[in-house]
Amino acid sequence: MTGFDGEDDVVELCRDLIRIDSTNAGDNAGPGERAAAEYVAEKLSEVGVESRILESDARRASVVARIEGTDPGRDALLLHGHLDVVPFNADDWTHHPMSGEIADGCVWGRGAVDMKDMDAMILAVVRRRLREGRRPPRDVVLAFTADEEAGGKYGAQWLAQEHAEVFEGCTEAIGEVGGFSVSLGQDKRLYLIEAAEKGIAWMRLTARGRAGHGSMLNAENAVTELAEAMARLGRYEWPVRLTPTVRAFLEETSAALEIEFDPERPEATVAKLGPLARMIGAVLRNTTNPTMLESGYKANVIPQTATGHVDGRFLPGYEEEFFATVDELLGPNVTREFVYHDIAVETGFDGPLVRAMAEALEAEDPGARAVPYTLSGGTDLKAFSRLGIRGFGFAPLKLPADLDFSGMFHGVDERVPVDSLRFGVRVLDRFLDHS
Ligand SMILES: [Zn+2]
Repeated sequence: MTGFDGEDDVVELCRDLIRIDSTNAGDNAGPGERAAAEYVAEKLSEVGVESRILESDARRASVVARIEGTDPGRDALLLHGHLDVVPFNADDWTHHPMSGEIADGCVWGRGAVDMKDMDAMILAVVRRRLREGRRPPRDVVLAFTADEEAGGKYGAQWLAQEHAEVFEGCTEAIGEVGGFSVSLGQDKRLYLIEAAEKGIAWMRLTARGRAGHGSMLNAENAVTELAEAMARLGRYEWPVRLTPTVRAFLEETSAALEIEFDPERPEATVAKLGPLARMIGAVLRNTTNPTMLESGYKANVIPQTATGHVDGRFLPGYEEEFFATVDELLGPNVTREFVYHDIAVETGFDGPLVRAMAEALEAEDPGARAVPYTLSGGTDLKAFSRLGIRGFGFAPLKLPADLDFSGMFHGVDERVPVDSLRFGVRVLDRFLDHS
């Protein structure tokens, strides 16, 4: 059944995609996604799916397609994955990041979890189903996008703005950073389904003062002003804000861990999550992390201005509070402007689509417990949500207990277990039946 069986197919698709260079260094630099897009289009055409390659700029290519469902009365479902990957330093890796090598039961390479794995899973499921003549119940729109790793200006954002017709009738979506397992003992696994994302506020701060000689008194030193403002933001202890998704996550997780959930001390639950605590801990509150400082040009010259950058992230529903607090902390002498600003998103963890995800997981893993969670970063979902689409991170992977999965994202030795890919295809196949 090689080539026809989705579970073998997914492994080869994932390896092929990893071997295609679609590195995105930001600022429209890099080889672009054209080659990866052509590969995807060819794999779809092999099973009779006509796709379109849409370019926002030279070689910045996304692929879109629509598969007709058996029930024309229903709204469409969007399956999306980005084709670009972040850069790498090959010397740091055990196996070359573009080799797609299989070693120790894993497919290795840049994109193995972010997110050529899911691209391959979507392709494998679609190919299997169509080869077997099994259309999904509702129309399925496929979008393999460019530029997610640089914010989606040449990918999802552009598609949503310039080609909204592609997504006509889509009300729900699944995409990346969710559906993976976290082991709690031998027979129990939480599967974290992304139902919310924090918003993004990358800010450039500028302090203006009075330039002058470094040997003289100067109460209007721009560097001092900026440094103080940056320190206030960096040290600020943002209050815990339990959004509906975060609260649901903590309650479910506490129940699974058989510990009492104390809303006054949510950190106690988070601390039990191992390496995942880095990611989950960040969604209990807004955050502001100073990331860059630039000012001055000579040791004895006080410059007129000083600038710095801060990476701010706000929870769904707390954007107003976030900026009010930031402005208070900045004080009157430091101004801010956006380098990048995007919305937070959140949807309820209920309804038939959520049930379809949870049941598909439970059918393939009896120890599964699906829980909603909030992603501290952002994905293409933000762009699609502007079209009124409700989205989830659901790229199902049953993972070995000892794999530091969140560390794989943009990390060295990024890899995905072969068995996890196969599991993902089976889950997505079931999910589509009941979606
Ligand atoms: Zn990604």
